[in-house]
Amino acid sequence: MLRSYDVILVGGGITGLMSAKKLCDIGLHVALVEQHSTLASGPSTRNEGWLHRGTYHAASIRDRHIGIQVARRCIYGHEQLRRFCSEAIEDGDVRPIVMIADGSKVDEVVSRWKEADVQVRPISHAAASKAAPTANFGRVAALFEANDVSVNTRLLYRKLFAMAQKAGCDFYVEHQIERIDGQTAVLKAPSGDLRYVQANKFVYSAGTGARAIFQKHHGVELPIRYWKSHLVITKRLAPVGLFYVDPHEAAMMHHGDVSVIGLNEDALLSPTPSYDVIADRAENLRNAIRRIFPNWSGEDSINIACTKVDLVANATDARSLDIAIREPIPGHVCVLPGKMTEAPYLTDILVSYIHQALDSSVIALRPCDHFEDTQQLLEVG
Ligand SMILES: Cc1cc2nc3c(=O)[nH]c(=O)nc-3n(C[C@H](O)[C@H](O)[C@H](O)COP(=O)(O)OP(=O)(O)OC[C@H]3O[C@@H](n4cnc5c(N)ncnc54)[C@H](O)[C@@H]3O)c2cc1C
Repeated sequence: MLRSYDVILVGGGITGLMSAKKLCDIGLHVALVEQHSTLASGPSTRNEGWLHRGTYHAASIRDRHIGIQVARRCIYGHEQLRRFCSEAIEDGDVRPIVMIADGSKVDEVVSRWKEADVQVRPISHAAASKAAPTANFGRVAALFEANDVSVNTRLLYRKLFAMAQKAGCDFYVEHQIERIDGQTAVLKAPSGDLRYVQANKFVYSAGTGARAIFQKHHGVELPIRYWKSHLVITKRLAPVGLFYVDPHEAAMMHHGDVSVIGLNEDALLSPTPSYDVIADRAENLRNAIRRIFPNWSGEDSINIACTKVDLVANATDARSLDIAIREPIPGHVCVLPGKMTEAPYLTDILVSYIHQALDSSVIALRPCDHFEDTQQLLEVG
């Protein structure tokens, strides 16, 4: 039997789950296909769980304009996620401490924060030491409190899944795509049964899997690159989150009793996505943690690695992991959020784009709709 949908999403990370919920909310008939037996088992879960609020990206991205753009999208996503799932916000009343080591950068960073509307408050070294007694602030030129928080992604995704399912989304979990023929696809269930589905639009929210899907099923080579980075998970190191905005220093957020720490600028171009840890990269991160916590033994901790993607537009050295919505072949759209925190912004644009392309509702067109170029919506990032 052939089942028909308005939209079939391929990939059930944050982008797919959030798109499913939002597309169902406007009354579309939606299905989501996920290859694994659990949803969001890739980068959407193997990350730092840092719900950014622009503090880090406004300061750390080399190009001022891009840094401010990314920061604004993070603020948009941060506020939307806090409203949508306040129950997933961890330590919401504890403000993390931002550290700037390079004194010559402080004025520029503060002016970027101001322009992007990033909320920070300067604090003294004494106040920082009181908030995080085991941390070494001796190398730090300036300190601030920020409004970034940690998010329990599992709870967030559960809510997105539950709300999408309630709104009528069909989930094909642990289904492999056998074939895509125009607007029809053949899916293989874990039992080996084949299911035939069709949709007006296929939306590939497949993260690191998007390149392979377009290669295999559409013969299209998307200019997607893979960037590997590492995290250390250890017993909680401080009552508050602490992060440098300087390159090659550490950034730490917390989830309950554990700290999850990444290294700024730890992005190694890789030929394929993988979870393999590269020992010397992990050691760089461990050394950066010791620069903040000189007494950290490193016991009871683990290294993990994960891969991010970006879709290269024109730049040869784009590393800001820009968001992207592209329709390389009609009816087949690729969406990549850059960061988890940017997924709300990206999926709002996606919904607007899909709505313009598919709307057959009883709602009248606006006079300006006759002039609007749907393609314009794809010019994001
Ligand atoms: C180490 C690291 C730390 C990070 N930390 C943060 C952070 O703290 N804050 C933040 O905002 N962002 C962070 N990010 C970025 C963030 O994790 C990603 O941008 C985001 O999770 C991408 O979500 P996604 O849903 O687009 O893709 P994914 O999470 O990759 O989900 C894609 C889904 O598609 C499925 N799929 C793939 N191919 C197929 C196929 N052929 N058929 C069916 N299903 C398929 C996959 O199984 C997966 O479930 C981090 C990334 C990394 C690597």
